[in-house]
Amino acid sequence: MSDTHRIFPQSDFQVQELPTDGKLFFPDRKQAEMEFKNGRKELAEFQRRLYAEGKQKLLIVFQAMDAGGKDGTIRKVFSGVNPQGVVVNSFKVPSKEELAHDFLWRIHKKAPSKGMIGVFNRSHYEDVLVVRVHDIVPESVWRPRYEQINQFEKLLHDTGTRVLKFFLHISKDEQKERFQDRLDVPEKNWKFSVDDLRKRTYWDDYMSAYQEMMEQCSTEYAPWYAIPANQKWYRNWAIMNVILSTLREMDPQYPPPEDDIEGIVVE
Ligand code: ATP
Ligand code: MG
Repeated sequence: MSDTHRIFPQSDFQVQELPTDGKLFFPDRKQAEMEFKNGRKELAEFQRRLYAEGKQKLLIVFQAMDAGGKDGTIRKVFSGVNPQGVVVNSFKVPSKEELAHDFLWRIHKKAPSKGMIGVFNRSHYEDVLVVRVHDIVPESVWRPRYEQINQFEKLLHDTGTRVLKFFLHISKDEQKERFQDRLDVPEKNWKFSVDDLRKRTYWDDYMSAYQEMMEQCSTEYAPWYAIPANQKWYRNWAIMNVILSTLREMDPQYPPPEDDIEGIVVE
């Protein structure tokens, strides 16, 4: 179940044909919402154990088109988890200082430390998405990045970090509706950006960039999942399932108590 949307290495797929409607996979919304709520409790318990154990790390990357639901996913999935154990980082247009370094410099600094769950809202993948689509650097610079990213993620993996990457896949029509909603509802106006409309006109170029990103960088050690994200309840449920099944494999344990504490009474 948790592998339904996984992109396996060398698999043959067309991003434009990957599903955006999750309800085809799991039609029962009520059931999904109930399972999601239970999943949150399980996630909170896993996080406590991961933190107490203090050895392993989990990195969760989110990429999507604008209005794809990165913010909402992070809010929904991680509410209920101790904020001390989860660090969310959003990667925006790089600063002058960041641009003066290699593209992974700002990313590596934010990789989770032992016992932590790190969440990336956008990531190093912007450097082969927005940067590629809008010709911010020439192809001779962005093309080698796929391999550089694979090596970076291998390093993270080999040093105790599990890496999960989610592409929240919405349809172009769904994006239109969400943009319109941001225009129509005063409380959502702040989320609307004219620049997002400009990026929308490059939809097909973005899809090609997502296609190659997943072809080149969905590895055994750092898989991509293309999550149908038109229905938020399905998106949340599917992502929760992948995270939980990964944590089950990681199987973090509370450390044994110090020496022999049996019989100690606190005066
Ligand atoms: P979001 O749109 O993710 O909800 P936001 O609206 O709060 O976030 P924005 O101000 O839109 O934040 O900042 C994100 C912008 O930064 C995006 O347009 C993204 O493509 C851009 N960005 C991120 N990383 C890079 C990069 N390495 N190079 C160029 N642009 C980047
Ligand atoms: Mg934005």
